[in-house]
Amino acid sequence: MIVYSHSKLSTFEQCPLKYKLRYIDKIKPEIEKTIEAHLGSSVHDTLEWIYNSVKENSEKSPTLDEIINHYIKIWKKELTQNILIVKKQLTQADYFNKGIQFLADYYQEYYPFKDGTIECEKEITIKLDENTQIKGFIDRLVYDLENNRYEIHDYKTAGTLPSQEKMDQDRQLALYSIAIKELYGQDKEVLLVWHYLAYNHKIISKRTREQLENLKEETKNLIKDIQNTKVFLPNKSILCEWCEYKSICPEWNFEIQEKVSEKILSKRINPFPEFKEDKEREKMDIWD
Ligand code: SF4
Repeated sequence: MIVYSHSKLSTFEQCPLKYKLRYIDKIKPEIEKTIEAHLGSSVHDTLEWIYNSVKENSEKSPTLDEIINHYIKIWKKELTQNILIVKKQLTQADYFNKGIQFLADYYQEYYPFKDGTIECEKEITIKLDENTQIKGFIDRLVYDLENNRYEIHDYKTAGTLPSQEKMDQDRQLALYSIAIKELYGQDKEVLLVWHYLAYNHKIISKRTREQLENLKEETKNLIKDIQNTKVFLPNKSILCEWCEYKSICPEWNFEIQEKVSEKILSKRINPFPEFKEDKEREKMDIWD
């Protein structure tokens, strides 16, 4: 069984070479984390902790002080030495404070956090065919008893707010909704809910049965494209600034271009030390 994730698919769409370096050659990057990923994971962890605390003791929802203390603890614990800050006008403290603001706004809006949450970080699997699966993690799954429907909640810490039209086409949560319908019933309504924390704004969307069938086919075709790719070309863009492989990318380094690019681009060999792909990396990418 070949297993894909949303982040694996979107990495290929963003840059086939990055896909090869990360998922085929499994090259351990010098920089393992950007400050945006660190902010995202610290805020996600804190929101998960909030809802798990309410699940454990529904009589006592966490206070804002407790929430901020948890965030500070996680921020410090997970901070690494070689964290990448691309936007040089901002400091580590600026990103830390953004997280405080996101959580304070979320607290104002959603305290006491009792909305029918079933599970946080729910692992789901979508079987596309006999040999291919998509795996992912739902930030938070809610059952809305009053309307007898499920809600897939996703937190975004990015600094840009997409349009409703864009999210009506989004692949990740739509794929996850296929898994939820398989688990709880094809007739069940499933809402897709994105929390854009920097804007304290929620975007809601849903998909028809036909749209989900089309999505399955499109995803299978994308996977076929990946499997048939022989030459993984670089795709230079503004996103290269955040790429963990920029220092070894032939697009940015002419010495490497001459020595290594032929090997990297044409053969499935690994000229660099290996590292293990792990769940945390998948989660980090999903949280961008
Ligand atoms: S630096 Fe840019 S072109 Fe090079 S691998 Fe990364 S995303 Fe691709």
